Amino acid sequence: MKAINLSKNLIVKPGTKVNLSKYNPDDTFGFEDKQGAMDVIQRNTFRLGELQYLLYAENKHSLLIVLQAMDAGGKDGTVRHVMSGINPMGCTVTPFKVPSAEELDHDYLWRIHKAVPPKGEIGIFNRSHYEDVLVVRVRKLVPKPVWSPRYDQINAFENILAQNNVKIVKFFLHISKEEQKKRLQARLDDPVKHWKVAPGDYVDRKYWDEYMTAFEDVLGRCSTPWAPWYVIPANKKWFRNLAVSQILVEALEELNMKFPKPAYDISKIKLK
Ligand code: AMP
Ligand code: MG
Repeated sequence: MKAINLSKNLIVKPGTKVNLSKYNPDDTFGFEDKQGAMDVIQRNTFRLGELQYLLYAENKHSLLIVLQAMDAGGKDGTVRHVMSGINPMGCTVTPFKVPSAEELDHDYLWRIHKAVPPKGEIGIFNRSHYEDVLVVRVRKLVPKPVWSPRYDQINAFENILAQNNVKIVKFFLHISKEEQKKRLQARLDDPVKHWKVAPGDYVDRKYWDEYMTAFEDVLGRCSTPWAPWYVIPANKKWFRNLAVSQILVEALEELNMKFPKPAYDISKIKLK
């Protein structure tokens, strides 16, 4: 199996114009099959647990993971698989749905900022403030003069978080239109999956091209040195899990975390 630096290959370099049709959602970057990937995924999952322990102990940084994808793109599955080695005590998953009346009465970042993980913790956003330049743009929920300045606003917001020790890693789980069809059909065919059927998803599919354009702008305009986007080929779930876990391990290792020095002289504490 080839050792490929996935972070370097999957990151969207700040300032590049993104054309998603050039990204292959079936790509596996030299990894051949699920069998071969399992070892690496398991190692990454274990390492993520260790790094989370250190993050919690050091209590200096937090990690914010943003997950965006088309419907059935694998956001829930990514949370389940990649986070399986993590202690729930230090991790919160926040799904962002259609905003409530109260949320709509505030600026669009209000509900987001409240959910940013505190020091020592990991926060996963299942959808995010990016919906405010994705669904909101495609479905014309607000006019262009309202959504178009949001790219710069989001970059500034994320910059403030980053300067305050929030490590931000953003994943676009990239599936093909064909793969989405298979997954949405599977939800119709399997009674156990019926609860997932949302008629809106089947309507949104009609706007596939508009969504791709909106995602290209998100990726091109909001991948920054302080909050990079990664495009994850996600047709194959095992590769998606491998890539996401690998990038998260690297992101946490970059923090060079250390256990804090004990506030007490441990040698003086004697148990009777
Ligand atoms: P799900 O994640 O499948 O439970 O669906 C949540 C739904 O909420 C999706 O259809 C999103 O597009 C929608 N949604 C999330 N954020 C927003 C937003 N800011 N404005 C409008 N719709 C949103
Ligand atoms: Mg849905």
